[in-house]
Amino acid sequence: MDAEPGTIADRVRSLFDEIRHAAVRAGRAPESVRLLAASKTVSVERVREAVDAGIRHLGENRLQEALPKIEALDREGVVWHFIGTLQRRKVKSVVGRFETIHSVDSLVLAEEIARQAKAAGLRQRVLLEVNLGGESSKGGFAPAALAQALPLLNEFEQLDIRGLMAIPPPTATAEEARPYFRQLRELAQALTAQGCRNINMQELSMGMSHDYAVAVEEGATYVRVGTAIFGVRQLG
Ligand SMILES: *Cc1c(COP(=O)(O)O)cnc(C)c1O
Repeated sequence: MDAEPGTIADRVRSLFDEIRHAAVRAGRAPESVRLLAASKTVSVERVREAVDAGIRHLGENRLQEALPKIEALDREGVVWHFIGTLQRRKVKSVVGRFETIHSVDSLVLAEEIARQAKAAGLRQRVLLEVNLGGESSKGGFAPAALAQALPLLNEFEQLDIRGLMAIPPPTATAEEARPYFRQLRELAQALTAQGCRNINMQELSMGMSHDYAVAVEEGATYVRVGTAIFGVRQLG
């Protein structure tokens, strides 16, 4: 997606507007949606511009890249989220540093997070990543596998499971992503009906630069937006 014109601050402001409009269109409370800036590859200076413009939630994909940014932007009100593929050996350093891990994509990873959270004496807030398109290139729980996984996940008391996250297969238009977003919402509802005591499914992390408005219409509580704030990322 091409960068929108204007400064980072202009783009952040118009995103907040668009999100509010999408929420209102869907009869939702605008404050139920949080704009999470996906800041991978973006310099501290540019991330700071976004924070100065009102961004409170920042999402990073890689621990090494995130640590210096967390340090540099350590100020009141900034909340860090881990949104990338998480390797087991990195779990120890991620637990407790990020408010929410959005990308819990297997039971094995969930177990390791629970183990490290216990060692650190805390509960870690997490979302379960769902592979909606059944893509072999992506991680995540198969939708049909989650119902069975849930009672097992429920045993990990150090995991504060708050909901679901998904990165749907690429679509040509935002509208074509709608069935995936709807599917994630319905899945969360079905899992809530299972009634596991430690698990709550109120958060839906879905929607990126090209389709966040549709995701909000379908119930997103976090949209993860990179390009539409910071411009096109440099490769490599
Ligand atoms: C990079 C990234 C985003 C943001 O993608 P854009 O298309 O640049 O908005 C969202 N979620 C995850 C997991 C990402 O890695």
